[in-house]
Amino acid sequence: MPLVVRFVENTITFPYVRSLGPVTGAFMTALTEKRILGIRNGDGVICPPMEWDPATGAELAHDMVEVGPAGTVESWTWVPEPTTQHPLDRPFAFAFVRLDGATTPMLHAVDAGSPDAMADGLRVAPRWKGERIGHLTDIACFVPGEEPEVDGEDEGPASEPVVLMDYLASITYRNPVPPSSDIVVDASHEHRLVGFQCPGCQKIYIGGRGVCPIDSVEFGEEHLVDLPQKGTLSNHVVITPVQYPGQTETEPFARVFVQLDDVEVVLGYQPVIDLPVEDVKIGVRVEAVWAPPGEDTGDAPSMAGAFGSLLGWRPTGEPDVDDPDLVNRIF
Ligand SMILES: [Zn+2]
Repeated sequence: MPLVVRFVENTITFPYVRSLGPVTGAFMTALTEKRILGIRNGDGVICPPMEWDPATGAELAHDMVEVGPAGTVESWTWVPEPTTQHPLDRPFAFAFVRLDGATTPMLHAVDAGSPDAMADGLRVAPRWKGERIGHLTDIACFVPGEEPEVDGEDEGPASEPVVLMDYLASITYRNPVPPSSDIVVDASHEHRLVGFQCPGCQKIYIGGRGVCPIDSVEFGEEHLVDLPQKGTLSNHVVITPVQYPGQTETEPFARVFVQLDDVEVVLGYQPVIDLPVEDVKIGVRVEAVWAPPGEDTGDAPSMAGAFGSLLGWRPTGEPDVDDPDLVNRIF
């Protein structure tokens, strides 16, 4: 197997805005007013409120009732080493807090300083943020005692009912980088498009793949070959971004497959430059476009297409190639 010498960290974010509906919206709006609402469900009061009875699924009447602000810890666990995704940057407890007047507990952080200060039955009260936006984190955390407090200057309630909430879903993961990937990216900084030619099957691989999948030969500098920087579009896809709230892509864009000249190499999912979406079609002649020095895309070769200093492909102006076989060339 190729020796992995380093890893890169990648983060995929999916920011969108969700609508809150009548029950969660009322709950969030009340949080900006430093009030906590539950919803009546028979003899019980559910907090945080839900639109449906969790036991039967029956829709609940929107009979909201104020609870708390103090409550009682029903159970807890200590978080000795918080990560960036935790609500507090110091050791704290996650606890089920049943607010006074509620019959169900709310999960939240308790800033108790030490696990020795935590106990089932501990009385706690909210520490509100000074700036409240209509989010569960408007309660910074709970603190031991009966009296709510405000962290910093109290900027007051929201001026309008809270009906939407930013939802910033993201995941960060680590990818191994084979040495061959670095070689391809380094060559791109010199505006060279390179591949690795397997001494066994003689096939040429690009994209930083570290090994021939047929012969299991590990690639290194000795297998490097320079590739032509012109080619022909052999396939394409036009992506029309769905305009959900929070979407940052607004216009349709193309990703193309480029069959390089004179070699059996096709680059997939490449960006196009100076080629309008409506002019993208099989047979268009294109050439590589390189970033000026210092304007690296920062990407390793991947399914995302552009990498290193390779920005994408633009039309050469040559006549289109009329070859019905091109459409079969996606690998
Ligand atoms: Zn091979």
